[in-house]
Amino acid sequence: MSERPISRRLLAWYDRHGRKTLPWKRKRDPYRIWISEIMLQQTQVATVIPYFQRFIARFPDLRSLARADLDGVLHLWTGLGYYARARNLHKAAQRVVNEHGSKFPRTFEAVADLPGIGRSTAGAILTLAFGQRHPILDGNVKRVLARYHAIDTPLNKRETEEKLWQLAERHTPRQRVADYTQAIMDLGATVCTRTKPQCSACPLRTNCRACRLGAPQDFPVRTAARKTPVKATQMLMIRDTRGRVLLQRRPPAGLWGGLWGFPECADGNARQWCRKTLGINIQTESPWPVLRHSFSHFHLDITPIPAQVVGATDQLMENAETVWYNVRRPDQRGFSAPVKHLLDELRKI
Ligand code: SF4
Repeated sequence: MSERPISRRLLAWYDRHGRKTLPWKRKRDPYRIWISEIMLQQTQVATVIPYFQRFIARFPDLRSLARADLDGVLHLWTGLGYYARARNLHKAAQRVVNEHGSKFPRTFEAVADLPGIGRSTAGAILTLAFGQRHPILDGNVKRVLARYHAIDTPLNKRETEEKLWQLAERHTPRQRVADYTQAIMDLGATVCTRTKPQCSACPLRTNCRACRLGAPQDFPVRTAARKTPVKATQMLMIRDTRGRVLLQRRPPAGLWGGLWGFPECADGNARQWCRKTLGINIQTESPWPVLRHSFSHFHLDITPIPAQVVGATDQLMENAETVWYNVRRPDQRGFSAPVKHLLDELRKI
């Protein structure tokens, strides 16, 4: 019985309770929908809204985003995390301008071929923007379907993923597909939440297997979590005689790729490290308290070390990757959340 499509009940629920006033829903504009879908990957709606509004105010269309420099894009992403999303948006906008005449593509293959867009996001954009019928399977939809069908294999198994895609395909209706897509995402975000699902308010409760088992939180099944590893680094907040602080741009890919940050030495003697690596002498001060920043796969314990340059800095030339930064006259650069926090603290001194 629970294999029956769920669209009718979900659509009726959406008409009464769906979130129809979110800023990216006001127009069916593929550009705005694309930006919102990328921001909503890994991030909650309430956090995304102000970022989305600032982003659209600065880059109102594809061409403006394609023309932007990456620092300006990363600047608007500061604090949102998962910065590869911003780098990929920028690259994808340039590809749409160059390869699709600045028009957001309308075929699944072309959309899924853009950087940062997987199968589910491509389906969501095409469905929400153009009303095309594609199943989607983001985190919220996975949770709803895994509970509704009481899928008892772990979420990270390929067979589970395949099964969920089949179910997503089967449940996706031919009529009102955009509303259905929005409805199932909204249900996962507001009713069938990760902790404390509100089954009594859910339109699917009569046939939901996890609910009937009295154990919605046991689904989706997860493999036992391994202990999250902890890594450590030292961030050197080096000031020159004019009070400016040394920043370096990180390599384009990888952790915090393309963002600006303090020179880092993993451990050991910061003064020796600076002499050897940067060619400058520094005098260090007492470290600030350790800041912990958590990523999905590890915690990073950061020891911020204030320091002052001693003697000449001639060997350390400013260039595209290195700058002496005036914290009182900030410009448009992308920073990770801990670096932004430390710069804010330095500004108060
Ligand atoms: S009945 Fe409960 S577990 Fe089932 S889909 Fe609704 S909220 Fe989720």
